[in-house]
Amino acid sequence: MQRVISVLAISMIFSVAFLIGCAVKSTPQIGEKFMSTSKILFNIETDKQLDVSKMKDWDIIVDPDAIPSEKYAGEEFQRLFKEATGMMLPINSKAQGESNHVYIGKATSEKLGEEELMVIVNKDSLIITGGRPRGTLYGVYQFFEDAFGVRFLTFDHTYIPKSTDVKIPVGEFRYNPPFLFRWSYYAENSKEPEFAARLRVNTVTHAEKLGGVTPQNLINHSFHWLLPFDKYGAEHPEYYALFEGKRDTETGGGGPQLCVTNKDVIRIVAENAISYLDQHPNMRNISVSQANTARYCHCDECEAINKREGTPMGSQLAFVNAVAKLIEQKHPDVKVGTLAYWYTRKAPKTIKPRHNVQIQLCSIECCTLHPIDDPTCEKNRAFCQDMEEWSKICNDIWIWNYNTNFRYYDLPFPNLRVIGPNVRYFLRNNAKGVFM
Ligand SMILES: [Zn+2]
Ligand SMILES: [Zn+2]
Repeated sequence: MQRVISVLAISMIFSVAFLIGCAVKSTPQIGEKFMSTSKILFNIETDKQLDVSKMKDWDIIVDPDAIPSEKYAGEEFQRLFKEATGMMLPINSKAQGESNHVYIGKATSEKLGEEELMVIVNKDSLIITGGRPRGTLYGVYQFFEDAFGVRFLTFDHTYIPKSTDVKIPVGEFRYNPPFLFRWSYYAENSKEPEFAARLRVNTVTHAEKLGGVTPQNLINHSFHWLLPFDKYGAEHPEYYALFEGKRDTETGGGGPQLCVTNKDVIRIVAENAISYLDQHPNMRNISVSQANTARYCHCDECEAINKREGTPMGSQLAFVNAVAKLIEQKHPDVKVGTLAYWYTRKAPKTIKPRHNVQIQLCSIECCTLHPIDDPTCEKNRAFCQDMEEWSKICNDIWIWNYNTNFRYYDLPFPNLRVIGPNVRYFLRNNAKGVFM
């Protein structure tokens, strides 16, 4: 059991490390080395360096107007710096004199994204700042990973090399994570939100101290609440899928599916989605997506589109586009997410997602022994064909990746060597969100 736990823990660390760490769209390499030691910050050659051994009389400056996650970032800097160097720097709210200060969350005229971070290294000062609410806190963790080689391995164990002779290149470094939505679904992240924050999982806690969550939400099945069968089924059976010659009444898996070419269905689903968004004004995406069943509509109108488009995704995507167009009129900043899953994984021949539509592919059929971009693996080759077709027509792709064996949860899952290459592959193909 001990081994199982440690394998799971390592697997989790890798999944989140790769989610935050995909700094650049690198040249594709099949099955890239699974353990990356590359840095996001400080990748320059320079003789000018901040000598950490000279910092013992410095202090940490956190502005009194800092938000909770920036104040916590100051405390985290203090704690990690003490562990790494033995030097305990005091936290103050105002700088005395020009030099020998670490500024955490310093105001900047730069326009930074909500997780974008900036680290400015001088010989006599250090600034770690970022967009609100998570940029500064994530900046502190990135700083310690890249400057000191710190690794956040489990919630109760952080690997901190003891070092007083670290030298950090002088310069200005900036980073905006390419994945907006990062959810590593291992239990330790949910149970230990402070640990999740260290790994920059931005989906598990609303705690302000930890920067809260991204306003993007996991894309998931939603027909069951956008057009509840309980509410509309008796009076309007025609709203639901025609399956095996009858209007479906099967509610398993969040069914029945909808008749997606029915004009009233389009209108009501859009109205219900808009009303939900009115009540949740911070949401930046909403799921409009098929139920978890293969009993999709086979009426003449739906089937005509599917036949023409070469996939049941034809009618589904036409529907999602129509709903997304109506939602945009009231909520222009909200995206509409839908699943490309199972029988809808393949992109249609001619219908493209609207600019406000997100497509979430699901890798449930994939092999986890080989990297997803390994051309010798037949199962994975089929997934890549679909993903690459989608990436030509959509710049906001999400992935529901499978990190466990749903039949035997306790078995080790042999994906340690593929998480890194897989995440990099997703990034090269326009992925903006990953759930794994
Ligand atoms: Zn239909
Ligand atoms: Zn394989």
